[in-house]
This record gives sequence, C-alpha cells and structure tokens, in this order.
Amino acid sequence: MQSELETTFTNIKILKNAALADYTNTDTGGPADWLAFPENVTEVKQLVKFGNHHNLPITVIGNASNLIVRDGGIAGLVIILTAMKAITVNDNQVTAQAGAALISATKVACEARLSGLEFAAGIPGSVGGAVFMNAGAYGGEIKDVLAYATVLTATGEVIDVTNDELEFGYRHSNIQDHQGEIVLAATFKLQPAPFEQIKQQMDDLNARRASKQPLEWPSCGSVFKRPTGYFAGKLIHDAGLQGYTSGGAQVSTKHAGFIINIGGGTATDYLKVIAHVQATVLAKFGVHLETEVRIIGRGKDEQI
Ligand SMILES: Cc1cc2nc3c(=O)[nH]c(=O)nc-3n(C[C@H](O)[C@H](O)[C@H](O)COP(=O)(O)OP(=O)(O)OC[C@H]3O[C@@H](n4cnc5c(N)ncnc54)[C@H](O)[C@@H]3O)c2cc1C
Repeated sequence: MQSELETTFTNIKILKNAALADYTNTDTGGPADWLAFPENVTEVKQLVKFGNHHNLPITVIGNASNLIVRDGGIAGLVIILTAMKAITVNDNQVTAQAGAALISATKVACEARLSGLEFAAGIPGSVGGAVFMNAGAYGGEIKDVLAYATVLTATGEVIDVTNDELEFGYRHSNIQDHQGEIVLAATFKLQPAPFEQIKQQMDDLNARRASKQPLEWPSCGSVFKRPTGYFAGKLIHDAGLQGYTSGGAQVSTKHAGFIINIGGGTATDYLKVIAHVQATVLAKFGVHLETEVRIIGRGKDEQI
C-alpha cells in the first residue's frame, strides 16, 4: 500500500516519515507516516479517496499554529494545505483557498480597500484553520465576516456551507464535530473603506500584539480557552506559574497564556506544562482550563 501511495501520486509532493516539528509553530512533534502537499482540490479529493480506500487515517493541517503533535507523530496520511494559497477579490468579497495564510488574506483585503478582516492581521494560521477554529482577536472573529466556506464532505462532495450552517461559537465551528470534513476555501464579505484607515488599524493591532505576546519564541498562541467569567492568562499569572518550565517548554513570562519553546522542547514537555498549569489553577481557583490548542497524534511509545 505504501509504495502504492508514492506510485499513484507521482504528481503530488509526498514525504515519508516527515518530521512535523519542521512545520509546527512550537517546533515540536513527531513524524507523519506520510505528509502530502496537494496543490488543488482535485488532488485533495484523490488523496482522501485513496486514504479511505486503504483504511489510512487522514489528518488535515494548515499552518500548524494551533497544534501540538505528540512526539510519537501521526499515523497514516497527513495532508498539509499550505500549497493551496490563492486569494481573489470579487466586488466586496475576498475568497481564499484553505492553505492561504490568514495574514495574507488580511493584506489582500487591505489592498482592495475592504474592511472587516483587520482583527486577523496578526493571527498566524491558515484560512482553513481559522474557519475550523473560528479564530478571533480584539473583538472580531471569523464568524463576523465569513459569507460561506467551501467544504469537502466526508462523502466526497464539494459544497458551500453558509455562516449559519457552520454553527460558529467561541473557538468553535461544527467542522470540529463533523469527522472527515475539510475546509477547501473561504469567502469573506467585507465593507469598502479607505486604505489608510484599514492599514492603520492592522498596524495598531499588530503593535499591541507584539507588545503583549512572546512572538520572538516558538509557541502555539493562547494555549487555553477563556473560562467563563475569568481570563486564563490572569489565573495562570495569579497562580505564580509564569516561568514554570519542563524540559524546553516554559510558561511565558511575557504572556501567561502562552507556552514557549525555549530550545529543544518536545511535545511531551508541552503536555507536562499544560497538565501542571491545569492542576495548579484547578487546585488554587477551582477553575478547569480547557485547551484551545488541538492536541493530536500518538504518544512516543504508541504504535498504531
Ligand atoms: C503567536 C500566535 C498567536 C495567535 N493568536 C491567535 C489569535 O489572536 N486568535 C486566535 O483565534 N488564534 C490565535 N492563534 C492560534 C492559531 O493561529 C489559530 O487557531 C489558527 O486559526 C489556526 O490555524 P492553522 O492553519 O494554524 O491550524 P492548524 O494548527 O494547522 O490546525 C488546527 C486545527 O484545525 C484543523 N484544520 C486546519 N485546517 C483545516 C482545514 N482546511 N479543514 C479542516 N480542518 C482543518 C486541524 O486538523 C486542527 O485540528 C495564535 C497562534 C500563535 C502561534
């Protein structure tokens, strides 16, 4: 089967036993058995069909900026969409393929003098990952601007799914509940506005981000969701956890919600820090911190 994967898809870049630490924003994570880089929808469909036919587990990733891949890596076929990155403008709408950087989409919108995506100027995910997560910042979220997403369903159909149908919530879309669905593209409905106004807003938000977040270190952004009635960062700060370190993973001293890789960190280090933070905050304040970051893959000694 494995050699069949390579011989079937001579036109698609496919790496065997590919170190995912080279792709994740934390610089951690074990290998993918197979890592494929499709360049268009047809190739995604072909890969999914092959995986399903051969009972090969399929995992889709974007910029891996909200991801911890366990050190045992990911069994089966990992499809990374970053080669699908076209962005087009049509009247007041911007359509981006799933692998396009969300930051690139904000820049294209700005150039087209279209307002609405400014909040996302510094979110380092892909457009597909942003829809999947309903990414948001500074009072805006994908839900506010998405007209529809183009999705490959588990049954192999390509359909447009409206904003309402995606049932967005805080860091949630129902793609998370629909096993096997892949976001292929997103269309944002924006409003005309002066270029300088949009650019100023994006620059301001990026400056605020740079002053508060440890962007100079590898990380996966805010590790925990905001618990109702609290701020995760404040709870972690108040628990005295900033600077807590396991191996190469450390609770940032600049932003308590971030865990940075200070060098040589592993996914296991990250998971140890996460568990310690959760246990400490629960013991001190009775609040359970749920992870926002997605944790996937197998433990170091697990074989699937
Ligand atoms: C420094 C930093 C700052 C950040 N700031 C913010 C912020 O302000 N706001 C915010 O919301 N997030 C923030 N994040 C987190 C992250 O950038 C977002 O969650 C982003 O939307 C994730 O996109 P991604 O492409 O990196 O997804 P990945 O990390 O690649 O994947 C995340 C999940 O989405 C799934 N997925 C990805 N693409 C697809 C697809 N096309 N179809 C189906 N499923 C898919 C994956 O399987 C995985 O479960 C930050 C991260 C960092 C490192």
